[in-house]
Amino acid sequence: MSAAPAKPVVLGSWFARDLADMAVTWQAEPAPDPKLLILNEPLAADLGLDPDWLRGPDGVGLLTGTVVRDGAAPVAQAYSGHQFGGFVPRLGDGRALLLGELTDTEGRLRDLHLKGSGRTPFARGGDGLAAVGPMLREYLISEAMHALGIPTTRSLAVVATGRPVHRDTALPGAVLARVASSHLRVGSFQFAAATGDAALLRRLADHAIARHAPAAAQADNPYVALFEATVAVQADLIARWMLVGFIHGVMNTDNMTISGETIDYGPCAFMDGYHPGTVFSSIDSGGRYAYGNQPGIAMWNLARFAETLLPLFDEDTDRAIAVATQALDGFRAQYEAAWLTGMGAKLGLAGSSDAALVEDLLTQLAQSQVDFTSFFRQLARAVSGDREPSRGLFLDLAAFDAWLQRWLALNPDAALMDRTNPVYIPRNHLVEQALTAATGGDLGPVEQLLSAVTDPYVERPGLERYAEPAPDSFGPYQTFCGT
Ligand code: AMP
Ligand code: MG
Repeated sequence: MSAAPAKPVVLGSWFARDLADMAVTWQAEPAPDPKLLILNEPLAADLGLDPDWLRGPDGVGLLTGTVVRDGAAPVAQAYSGHQFGGFVPRLGDGRALLLGELTDTEGRLRDLHLKGSGRTPFARGGDGLAAVGPMLREYLISEAMHALGIPTTRSLAVVATGRPVHRDTALPGAVLARVASSHLRVGSFQFAAATGDAALLRRLADHAIARHAPAAAQADNPYVALFEATVAVQADLIARWMLVGFIHGVMNTDNMTISGETIDYGPCAFMDGYHPGTVFSSIDSGGRYAYGNQPGIAMWNLARFAETLLPLFDEDTDRAIAVATQALDGFRAQYEAAWLTGMGAKLGLAGSSDAALVEDLLTQLAQSQVDFTSFFRQLARAVSGDREPSRGLFLDLAAFDAWLQRWLALNPDAALMDRTNPVYIPRNHLVEQALTAATGGDLGPVEQLLSAVTDPYVERPGLERYAEPAPDSFGPYQTFCGT
């Protein structure tokens, strides 16, 4: 018996009504035999949703989009995007639906969105579906990112649909229910700008200001202030990715949010051995989205965002370009400051930002391909004299010893390091093992990995293998898009 929800689920349709030109009313495909695989109870509580109700038939109906509640108007959102540098005017939600907006217990508006819910008019050649493995992958990695304090879309649930999905083989299908402060992307603005409808572009920008930069409404030019706000949140976001070794893998403009949340966990992965050229995605043969390129790509994407806003910056194009260039230039300094402050904390040096010390360390980490996560925890032990765990990782011992001496002379704070540097991240080999088990019906390894990575800073006995780099036998790792 499924009880009625303690409180009715009220889904707004603000985007659908406000931006109907960018929204196609649509329905999810039926799920022949739905089974809830995983539910994020703390997130459900934040959203004011009753977890017991969500586990029942009506709740699972909501989480698969097959039961549309009163007043809800699910839509597929239209957007464009630069994919690997080439402009595609019509992308949009090919296998996703925005169910509507929820107000969370803190009064914030959050999108409830489904991925894998069937073909839409934007599906092009795709089947509109998603498999259990990749949807659990997004769940795991996005929740790990959240636990690391990195702005991200959240994962509310994964429901197996009972429908097979055909990739290289037949796989069990699934729908991911995700939550975001919005799904507005740089690509949304590219779509609006490409229509040539100036009123639509302004409506979209006003919508974005209301949702993400309300203070901008008071600025001399609210649209310049919106752009500056997005530059600021993206500079902070990319610095946070870099500080944990996260590689998004497909930083197309349709996968960059206006809110500054990480979105679309496709071919992403965490770097193990430090190297700026690290790439995991099978389709990124040129390394466009390599680890070390991410700040530059973010700036490139923001330049595409600025281009869409030029008519709102100033009616004189030259003046508009000058304003855009100045705001975009702010990215570099904001990114550098966030990165250096973050590296300072990783090295236990609050408030200081010795760029040369950091650069020298990174050169040595790259030379010896040192594991970017466990290194900083081992380094913290050197503060109390236990140098061997970190020394053992370097090929050029003399160079590392010299660096250690310089660093120790600054009196690093080991407790700050342990609060800043995670023990547990979703390591590639563990993610793969867990997803293989889940695809075969065993969710145990996903649940264990999730419990490690959602409490990433506290070292716990029994979880040693979650803290270790992949064994050599794991070999080079590759990830895939469009899964
Ligand atoms: P992504 O790489 O996930 O950001 O997706 C890029 C575009 O491809 C978006 O427009 C998606 O909606 C679409 N897409 C990806 N996979 C599928 C699929 N299986 N069926 C339909 N559309 C898809
Ligand atoms: Mg996408």
